[in-house]
Amino acid sequence: MVLMNDFRAEPASLRHAMLEAVARVLDSGWYVLGQELQRFEQEWATQCGTSHAIGVGNGMDAVEIALRALDIGPGDEVITTSMTAFATVLAIIRSGATPILADIDPTTGLLSIDSMRRCISTRTKAVVLVHLYGQIRAMDEWQRICDRHGLMLIEDCAQAHLSEWDGRKAGSFGIMGAYSFYPTKNLGAVGDAGMIVTNIAQLAEKASRLRNYGQSVRYLHSELGLNSRLDEVHAAILSVRLKLLPAYTARRRTIAQAYMNRIHNGAVKLLASPQEPNSHVYHLFVVTCVDRDALGAHLWSHGVQTFIHYPVPVHLQEPCVNLMHDPYGLRMSEQHAASCISLPCHPQMDDGEVETVIEAVNSFRVG
Ligand SMILES: *Cc1c(COP(=O)(O)O)cnc(C)c1O
Repeated sequence: MVLMNDFRAEPASLRHAMLEAVARVLDSGWYVLGQELQRFEQEWATQCGTSHAIGVGNGMDAVEIALRALDIGPGDEVITTSMTAFATVLAIIRSGATPILADIDPTTGLLSIDSMRRCISTRTKAVVLVHLYGQIRAMDEWQRICDRHGLMLIEDCAQAHLSEWDGRKAGSFGIMGAYSFYPTKNLGAVGDAGMIVTNIAQLAEKASRLRNYGQSVRYLHSELGLNSRLDEVHAAILSVRLKLLPAYTARRRTIAQAYMNRIHNGAVKLLASPQEPNSHVYHLFVVTCVDRDALGAHLWSHGVQTFIHYPVPVHLQEPCVNLMHDPYGLRMSEQHAASCISLPCHPQMDDGEVETVIEAVNSFRVG
């Protein structure tokens, strides 16, 4: 079976290096907020080209803490997409702010600028831009429109590790960027972890207080924060895995290129190609199909696992049906949710497995 992720197929040398990293932490006797985290924060800031990186418990907390560091909360509106991981919207709600859901551009699945414009009100404070599936696009345009309307741009980079636009990395365009290192992300821990990046020292300081109960110096609490720290074990493991990220990203791109060159099936549509060679890191390779469920069943019977990202857009999730959204509706998100399907695209796939996926997709016929 060609799996969507296959951690057990990772090289023995990687496993060995991770075990060594864990042993180093155990030997140090220091498990939370120590040298391993400091080192990994520095490494990640360098990778992103930002001056600060603050390790947190997970990607959802990264978004919430970024919003709270920016003093966004009750009474404020934050525009984001309905076609995202539920965590994006839940983080906005947890910050106390009101999410306003905008529609997507159907050719990419990314937040539509036109729809976002229709969502702006006098209370709008920020846009949480989700680099869905690993794509970043039109960042100059996003910066311009946010500037023009006095909105803060926050990037949800949970799927776009080091995706590049015009030579700059995801997370370095907005006032703050939020990363997740959930195991299945392009860079993943062996549990939950996340990171905030920013160029503004005061925001970095506030975020690092917020992740630690709002503590400024030991046992002094200048504000009400949360407990959301990136543990030493995960930081040490992430440092090891970071060394492989460039090669793993290159492998994802090679697989994606093979799909783009060789998937030919009138019933299966590819999303738009990336605008720049490095502006997509293929966290997910998503196609759309008029009969998505039949395609999934066909692929399964040909030994290919698939997932759906996402079958239900946020505005149709039960606790979110009353959220405000684009007054024109969210039809593109609904259509995309009903037709999208993700093909396996991970660094452990070998050429034979890539071939299996291509042949299985090409042999699909609508019933
Ligand atoms: C995974 C993900 C998150 C949440 O990250 P966690 O680490 O699971 O909390 C947020 N936004 C997007 C777009 C994601 O893909």
